[in-house]
Amino acid sequence: MPVVSIVSIFTRGARSSETPELRSSRVQGDIQRANEVWGTGNPPGVACGITFVSHSLIYRPEVTIDAATVTSSTDPRIIQVINEARAATNFATAIYVVYLSGETFNGGHVGNAGPVVETVTNANLYSIYGRCSLSDGAFETYLLAHEVGHILFYRILSLNPVVSTINDPSNPGDDHNNDPQNIMFPFVPAMNPYINSAQCTVARQNRIILENAQFTGVAAQGTAAQSAALTGTGSGFATQNPFNSMEDNESNEIFNSGNQCGCNNPHHHHNKPRIVKILNEKLDYWIENMGPERPQIYPKPPKKKKKDGKSNK
Ligand SMILES: [Zn+2]
Repeated sequence: MPVVSIVSIFTRGARSSETPELRSSRVQGDIQRANEVWGTGNPPGVACGITFVSHSLIYRPEVTIDAATVTSSTDPRIIQVINEARAATNFATAIYVVYLSGETFNGGHVGNAGPVVETVTNANLYSIYGRCSLSDGAFETYLLAHEVGHILFYRILSLNPVVSTINDPSNPGDDHNNDPQNIMFPFVPAMNPYINSAQCTVARQNRIILENAQFTGVAAQGTAAQSAALTGTGSGFATQNPFNSMEDNESNEIFNSGNQCGCNNPHHHHNKPRIVKILNEKLDYWIENMGPERPQIYPKPPKKKKKDGKSNK
């Protein structure tokens, strides 16, 4: 079964951050809507069977990030919070969702997401994790269900030359879909969003899905870790620790992408960190220029007068 782990991180002041019950409720609502879209499906779309599960929920009351000061999930404060969550979850293959305070991002959007490449063996064998942030304006909307699409559509088509994309597979050349009822329409549908078969086919091959995830150099143990994750025990952190299960230091160096390896061991493949860096630079550019990422209808319409949606604060 195609399963995607979600690690949720609430920062101080984010909507529903006040109590464990509220935090859990917001996470479960977002995950439930993502499962509706990517799992059971809505007509006229397909049932894709992708299941999102809550891997862990982290509360960071000492961290405040006002969405109004954030443009995208590549914001250094979001990267830091996610990196700390990754360390705390032993680098689980997951989509890391940061809940920010404030109604909208700088720019009026309410969500932003994309993948990060972790390791690359070849164009068909690589590992990623997801980086997502949501503002209060995403509360009780299909924004998470939309944002995960920007991660699920990632594919590396070639490494020589380097060709990768996050385009909607049913709408070449565009990250978004043109049908207002499709979950990947840039203004996210408020009811019954669907995905089509081309979107499902690409999404099911994505490396964020646990059964497709690659743990470099430890395929057998990786399978065991995935099996443990799929049994639903929920917190199989130790079994998914890539550092503990490495057969040599190679993957640790690749993992710290961008660092140059100073040794002469031919197994260390000096070109890998560079490829990872190139792929991630492209991704960051796409993520930073994604927009508009807003719901078609606010569950509770903004109190203030609305113009073109730009100044809904
Ligand atoms: Zn989008």
